[in-house]
Amino acid sequence: MKKRLRLVVTGAAGRMGRRVCALAAEDRRFSAAARVDRAEGCLPPRALAQALAQADVLVDFSAPEFCVEAAELCARARVAAVLGTTGLSPAQTARLRAAARRVAVFLAPNFSPGIHALCLLAEAAGRLLPGYDVSISETHHKLKRDAPSGTALRLASVVAEASGQPPAVVSQRIGDVVGEHTLTLAGPCERLELTHRAHSRDVFAAGALRAALWVFGRKPGFYDMSDMFRSR
Ligand code: NAD
Repeated sequence: MKKRLRLVVTGAAGRMGRRVCALAAEDRRFSAAARVDRAEGCLPPRALAQALAQADVLVDFSAPEFCVEAAELCARARVAAVLGTTGLSPAQTARLRAAARRVAVFLAPNFSPGIHALCLLAEAAGRLLPGYDVSISETHHKLKRDAPSGTALRLASVVAEASGQPPAVVSQRIGDVVGEHTLTLAGPCERLELTHRAHSRDVFAAGALRAALWVFGRKPGFYDMSDMFRSR
């Protein structure tokens, strides 16, 4: 049997971190994850460097500052990092790029295959419908911290590049919605709408675990969903 991947999960007590740990525990390709969080019952953040000494890949769903600190510790420990945290500032993204010069860093604002497909469709639609008005609306649960979502920002940049039109982005924070994104392109006498709805956080957790398996052993670099899907 192949060696099981040893994970460290940061933000392990959160909505996403709990699902990553639960799915990994049911999957024989992973050994029990080291759970790091400031919440009770987890290893504290100061124990992260030590946890990384026994790990193959870090998976992070926490908050921007902690995510960047974790990636920098990964660079020092030469442990690949899979980062799902959104709301990173340009300066924080630059620090991740610096870490990616020393170790493999996989960053995705959304690990669902459906959103990856939506980005490819958005690129095609933007290219095929120049001059159309473009907008994005996104809805998430009311505890989500960042707005617009990292996914909406990614979609906006894809469609802006393809169509030359920067889209208007509208965000709603209501109830316990896991995540919904609609891209609309409106032109004379017609409107195209592309919608993605996540029904469960497990789609993101499973995607992050798939990314962990994919990124392990890769050379230093900054990777994303396109790299993983391209190399299938
Ligand atoms: P959450 O608030 O439920 O969980 C975050 C966890 O991180 C908490 O348990 C918190 O205690 C911990 N944490 C935060 N700062 C910390 C610090 N300095 N030290 C130690 N622990 C710290 O949030 P969530 O819903 O699980 O989302 C986490 C992040 O993942 C958000 O940025 C969210 O937007 C993003 N997210 C990404 C995807 C994706 O597919 N990439 C999907 C869903 C959510």
